[in-house]
Amino acid sequence: MNEHVTQVRFAKPATGLPTAETWAFSHDPLPEPKEGEVSIRLHYLSIDPAMKGWITNKRSYIESVPLGEVMRGFGVGEVIASRTDYFQVGDFCTGFTGIQTHATLDGRTLRKVDPQLAPLSRYMGGLGMTGFTGYFGLLDIGKPQAGETVVVSSAAGAVGHVVCQIARLKGCRVVGIAGGPDKCRYLREELELDAVIDYRAGSLGEALSAAAPDGIDVYFDGVGGETLDAVLARINRHARIVLCGAVSQYGQLENMVGPGNYMQLIAQSGLMQGFTMRDYIKRMPEAFVELLTWEKQGKLKFREHIVEGIEQFPQAVDMLYRGENHGKLMLKLV
Ligand code: NAP
Repeated sequence: MNEHVTQVRFAKPATGLPTAETWAFSHDPLPEPKEGEVSIRLHYLSIDPAMKGWITNKRSYIESVPLGEVMRGFGVGEVIASRTDYFQVGDFCTGFTGIQTHATLDGRTLRKVDPQLAPLSRYMGGLGMTGFTGYFGLLDIGKPQAGETVVVSSAAGAVGHVVCQIARLKGCRVVGIAGGPDKCRYLREELELDAVIDYRAGSLGEALSAAAPDGIDVYFDGVGGETLDAVLARINRHARIVLCGAVSQYGQLENMVGPGNYMQLIAQSGLMQGFTMRDYIKRMPEAFVELLTWEKQGKLKFREHIVEGIEQFPQAVDMLYRGENHGKLMLKLV
């Protein structure tokens, strides 16, 4: 095989958000696959806000990445050597591949994907964990009904833009919250949301009252903090609050601000539920088929933000926390 691998390692704990110093690059020969393993050349790597959580030593849904180890991340790539009967050279697969150009992994941890069905980048975005997260969080927990008002934060982001479009497909009135005029224009003009709020432009509470005059039935939360509080103050009876993430708090994971207005859940018999994709692993094919069908029918448009080269990893992570990504952020390696 004689391939080399460039890897991004977790080099230094970050007190707040990760910085360039958090990461170190290493270059080594790629190990040959042992029995049951495959070697893959990665084409795309997913950049996720959860990365701060993955390098923080705090109780979570997954162990934190040990210092010095290759950074955790999803990837999609091509099999270049295989010692399993299931994977052949030339197959494509996805999984927790790590942030690296190549990987030699246990074949049982990878899932085959078909580049004829959709471009490979989709498996990092709308037709991968990102899209599935929006799909199950909204439909299974949010349970949106036609005519209801659905509010989505981080609405122009990877998960958010999928959630907004599914909510519209279900006949809901959809209010998107995002930062800055460009993202708001995209939500208004391309996704045709019913109302859009630039949370950086003024009072979020007043804007929410104007955008959702009949109150809020479903809230899909990607940001937490003040936004979650402002929504809770305006929920309707039997509202469903879907806790997907809390990116506004990722710079202060040790001192997170919780929702002050949670008593509204009692007053309105509301439900607030968190989730991760591990709750839905067995149901992934269901989301894939439906999202793919909607895309082929032109009912869903996936937005991808592609940055080239593994050396851009530290800057790409920064982009997420600064809100500089438009849609699903990923690194393209091949
Ligand atoms: P994303 O929305 O594409 O990117 C992150 C966005 O967060 C940025 O573009 C920015 O958008 C916004 N943001 C950054 N700092 C902020 C702050 N201080 N206050 C408010 N907004 C801020 O990322 P994503 O992958 O779709 O993830 C969205 C959320 O879902 C994250 O909380 C993530 O952890 C969570 N998530 C959860 C799961 C799960 O299984 N539960 C899976 C995937 C993602 P603006 O420019 O609009 O501010």
